[in-house]
Amino acid sequence: VKKIAVLTSGGDSQGMNAAVRAVVRGALYRGLEVYGVQRGYQGLLNKDLFQMDIRSVGDIIQRGGTILQTARCKEFVTAEGQQRGADVLREFGIDGLVVIGGDGSYQGALKLSKLGIKTMGLPGTIDNDIPCTDFTIGFDTAVSVAVDAINKLRDTMTSHERSSVVEVMGRHCGDIALYAGLASGAEAILVPEIPFDLKQISLQMKENFKNGKRHGIIVVAEGVDSGENIARQITEYSGIEPRVTVLGHIQRGGTPTHNDRILASRLGDYAVQKLMEGDSGKALGISKGVFCAIPIETVCTTKKPFNTELYELAMRLSQ
Ligand code: ATP
Repeated sequence: VKKIAVLTSGGDSQGMNAAVRAVVRGALYRGLEVYGVQRGYQGLLNKDLFQMDIRSVGDIIQRGGTILQTARCKEFVTAEGQQRGADVLREFGIDGLVVIGGDGSYQGALKLSKLGIKTMGLPGTIDNDIPCTDFTIGFDTAVSVAVDAINKLRDTMTSHERSSVVEVMGRHCGDIALYAGLASGAEAILVPEIPFDLKQISLQMKENFKNGKRHGIIVVAEGVDSGENIARQITEYSGIEPRVTVLGHIQRGGTPTHNDRILASRLGDYAVQKLMEGDSGKALGISKGVFCAIPIETVCTTKKPFNTELYELAMRLSQ
C-alpha cells in the first residue's frame, strides 16, 4: 500500500482522536500518504476526503470526540453503497483503510476488504463488547466517568441515608457496569450476562440499612432494563425508594485517560504496520499484553466472554 485513509464510524468514544493521530503519524513516518474521511461511511460516499499531514493531528491526543466526525450511514449497508465506497477510494488512489468504530463499522470494513480494499478495524467504542481485545478504546475513560459520578452520588446518599440506582451504558455488554460497580463499591451490579434475584437484592438492602449501612448503590447496565424500572421493582419488594440517575452520554465524553490514549496509539500504529504487510479484513486488539489480528468475520460471530471472576469478587466485597 502507498496511500491509506482513516475514518471513525458509529458511536464516538474517547481516544478515537489518539487513534487517528497514531494512524496518520505512523503512516507518514513510514512514507505513506494519508487521507482523513469525514463523517464515517457517509463521508466516504460523499467523497468527503482530505489529505492529512503531521500538523493536522496536532493538539488532539487529549481531546474526546473525533476530529473526523462520525455518522451512521444506511446506504453503506447495501451492496451498491459498498461498491460505491470502494470506487471512491480507488478514485483517490487509496488502497488501504483503517476503520475506527464498533462491530457495525467492522462489518462495513469487511465488505470493503471483499471488494479489494485492504482494511483494518480498530475497536473504538466505550462498550467493551468486542472480542479479541481486553479493552476497547474509550472503555477506560467511560468507566472513570461513571466511577466519578457514583462517588459524587455516594456523598449525598450517605448524608441522607438513601439508595441510588445508577444506569450506565454498554448496550448488550455489562462491562461498564461491572468495572464501575466494582471500583465504586456498589452493593449490587446488574448485568445482562448474569441472572439475578432483584427481590433478594432489595430485601438485603433493607436489612443492610437496618444494620447500619448508610447508603445503597445499585449499578444497572442499560442492557438489563432501565434504571426507572429497576427502582420501581425495588420499591415494590422492599418499600425502599431509590433515586435514579441515568448517566447517559456524559460517559462518551471527556478527556481520554492515559490507558485509552496508549491503547489507541499502539493500535493505530499497528494498523498501519498490518496494512503495509498486505494483511486485510482484520480486527486488531491487545489481549494479555500481546497484539492480535483476528478475521473480522470471527469477531462479528463471537461473543466476548464475561469476566465472572471480577463479578464474583465484586459480590464478595459488597456486603
Ligand atoms: P457503536 O457500537 O459504538 O455504536 P458501531 O460501529 O457498532 O458503533 P453502527 O451504527 O452499528 O455502530 O455501525 C456504524 C456504521 O457502519 C453504519 O451506520 C453503517 O454505515 C455501517 N455498517 C453497519 N452494519 C453494516 C453492515 N452489515 N454492512 C456494511 N456496513 C455496515
